[in-house]
Amino acid sequence: MTRPDELAANLAEVRARVAQACAAAGRAPQDVTTIVVTKTYPASDVATLAGLGVTDVGENRHPEAGHKAAELPSLLADGVAAPRLHFVGGLQTNKAGAVARYADVVQSVDRAKLARSLSRGAEAADRDLVLLVQVDFDLQDPGRSGAAPDDVAALADLVAELPRVHLGGLMTVAPLGVAPRPVFERLRELSEQVRAQHPDARIVSAGMSGDFEDAVAAGATHLRIGRAVLGERPPLR
Ligand SMILES: *Cc1c(COP(=O)(O)O)cnc(C)c1O
Repeated sequence: MTRPDELAANLAEVRARVAQACAAAGRAPQDVTTIVVTKTYPASDVATLAGLGVTDVGENRHPEAGHKAAELPSLLADGVAAPRLHFVGGLQTNKAGAVARYADVVQSVDRAKLARSLSRGAEAADRDLVLLVQVDFDLQDPGRSGAAPDDVAALADLVAELPRVHLGGLMTVAPLGVAPRPVFERLRELSEQVRAQHPDARIVSAGMSGDFEDAVAAGATHLRIGRAVLGERPPLR
């Protein structure tokens, strides 16, 4: 099978599973956006996916994400738009300015300093950025990446005040070794609290290849799916 055929087949299967999970949860499939996480895979795969109708892709590392974003336009077929780029990885403050030049959404905002740097970067680049507050529900091993649930409201308020960045909602990665569904339900509850103050912050980003059906059941609006579409990634160097 050629790579485009493989991606098309995997994508069709994931779309069918998302549709099935939506039906089981009584949700409309158009209320759930699948972000295909293309990290470690080449820009040619991103171009193929865009041609298959993928509107949103995820990347987790700078500068890899920036290099691929720069290469992509020359690879896209005529009339195919570049997908929105979601930066989903941990981000050092000193790289925020660079990421602000090419990302459309940064999902991993977990501290005030990073939010301020992204805002300054967006101003400098004369762009608008959507930011999600990443929440860490890991009680066993807190402080990986993500803000503690108690700190989310204040961080959301800050993002909403900063220039050129817009509070889009919340994101989480389910901790290893625990059932994901209750975690995703807590994210949705926290999202409802944030929306009481910030009605436009509607994004609930949860669920990866291994747990996206749970995320759909719990009310996620955005799924971040890598391996199920692109294949297993080689182990990190
Ligand atoms: C890699 C990654 C994903 C996708 O994970 P898969 O298991 O490949 O589906 C989702 N979210 C984040 C933050 C990631 O880094």
